[in-house]
Amino acid sequence: METLEFQAEARQLLQLMVHSIYSNKDIFLRELISNASDALDKLRLAKLQDGLEADTSDLHIEIEADTEARTLTVRDNGIGMTRDEVVELIGTIAKSGTAELLTKLKEAKESPELIGQFGVGFYSTFMVADKVTLVTRKAGTEGHGTRWESEGAGTYTIDDAPDVPIGTTITLHLRPKDEDDALYDYTDEWKIKEIVKRYSDFISFPIRKGDEVLNSQKALWARPRSEVTDEEYHQFYRHISHDWTDPLEIINMKAEGTFEYEALLFIPSRAPHDLFQRDARRGLQLFVKRVFIMDDSKELIPDYLRFVKGVVDAADLSLNISREILQQDRHIQMIRRRLVKKVLSTIKDLMSSNPEKYATFWREFGRAVKEGLLSEPDNHKPILEIASFATTHGSEPTTLAAYVERMKEGQEEIYFLTGESRSQVENSPHMEAFQAEGYEVLILTDPVDEIWVDAVPEWDGKKLRSIARGAVDLKKDEEEKEPEGDFGPLLGFLKEKLDERVKEVRLSHRLTTSAACLVSDADDITPALEKMYRAMGQ
Ligand code: ADP
Ligand code: MG
Repeated sequence: METLEFQAEARQLLQLMVHSIYSNKDIFLRELISNASDALDKLRLAKLQDGLEADTSDLHIEIEADTEARTLTVRDNGIGMTRDEVVELIGTIAKSGTAELLTKLKEAKESPELIGQFGVGFYSTFMVADKVTLVTRKAGTEGHGTRWESEGAGTYTIDDAPDVPIGTTITLHLRPKDEDDALYDYTDEWKIKEIVKRYSDFISFPIRKGDEVLNSQKALWARPRSEVTDEEYHQFYRHISHDWTDPLEIINMKAEGTFEYEALLFIPSRAPHDLFQRDARRGLQLFVKRVFIMDDSKELIPDYLRFVKGVVDAADLSLNISREILQQDRHIQMIRRRLVKKVLSTIKDLMSSNPEKYATFWREFGRAVKEGLLSEPDNHKPILEIASFATTHGSEPTTLAAYVERMKEGQEEIYFLTGESRSQVENSPHMEAFQAEGYEVLILTDPVDEIWVDAVPEWDGKKLRSIARGAVDLKKDEEEKEPEGDFGPLLGFLKEKLDERVKEVRLSHRLTTSAACLVSDADDITPALEKMYRAMGQ
């Protein structure tokens, strides 16, 4: 037997669990069942795709409670773990962003729902147990299995274990009952049933206790919306997203005919902390005829909608489908187009049916959605339709449609100015004449704004025009034609002094209080983009 130390981050996390910063301890059982369900999926998949020899005729999860001994056991006959895997998966937190996770968790003392965002998983057992034993054997291995045990402090023990069946058994030695004043005990039959029903009803494998099956096992996406409660959808959402906050919007889709599929999508109500990190998990879960095939299928949803969570169940794909094939599959591409269309139209509907929800959506995800303007010319219109922008017209964001409606008599273009912050843009000298003349200007301050404005030529027949570029034709006479008059010598002097640094010095009526400003040519890059490129060393 070996005694090993938990990795430092794991120890910190355990520490938080032992001191139970989370008030709803029931979720430990959901986490164990969720892991068991994953392990059963993995075994079935290993048999299907890798030809692993395994008995998958009775995949199930079993719960046993012993009130006398104060133990609760969750057993699955899934893929199991090797000894090395136990050390790696249970002894460390392999996921990226651990430091951030921990700071967030510490803050979570005030905001407990944050915990769910990270799916603390297996360690949540230490909220209710003072000792946890895990016995496992990996499918496809012969001989002994592995026994792991810990009291949740700094160390755990690991040892070989004889006569272990394939799969994983986890036994919780529950804390003494009088430690908290709960009216129930986690060995109570009704309590176990209640938790399973509440959090894990949709799990697709039977969850048994004695001879009884506790869950309905119905695939949520296959049931008509009218028959599923919001609570059921929310639990399912938590299961697949690890986000504790209820989703903003639920989308059901069903296509029949030549290519059948069902989809259940969720738009979260807030952006995950890693929305703009490269290594973040993204994509949807892919099922084929109710059989789980893979997580994080990026092929099913474009990157700019990476925050959308959910499941796609396609009837006509091969169970053996690989990621490589997925990328080229025409049906998958078709599903992807339909999902995009549906997500965008759902948001559009929200704009009129629930402006508050729409505002939340755009605040959380607008920055990501705008990336779609770079990659999908076909979707410029639906994306711009759901976009809103800060504007000099009041403090509330505006849609382009509303901007166009307010355009002044004779105004033919949509004016915008990009910059780092609202106040920087508002105080720009470029703004002066526009303010003075009462023209509305969009204030674009997200980094992506610098780029998409060049990819989008127009909206509703009106050009999008940076007021920092070229001669903006505010008064009908051309700026270049402004007579130099008495200013000729001054302009000449300035041009000579500034020499190489400017192309031209000219009079302008675009300024009202500033003496001078820098303008780039109409087809030059915007000043902010220039700065961004320079920062990137280009
Ligand atoms: P997560 O499920 O989010 O990965 P957990 O802490 O719940 O995080 O579990 C950590 C890892 O331990 C899992 O990813 C899985 O590889 C492994 N594991 C946990 N429970 C089981 C189980 N019952 N069977 C096989 N592997 C498991
Ligand atoms: Mg888990």
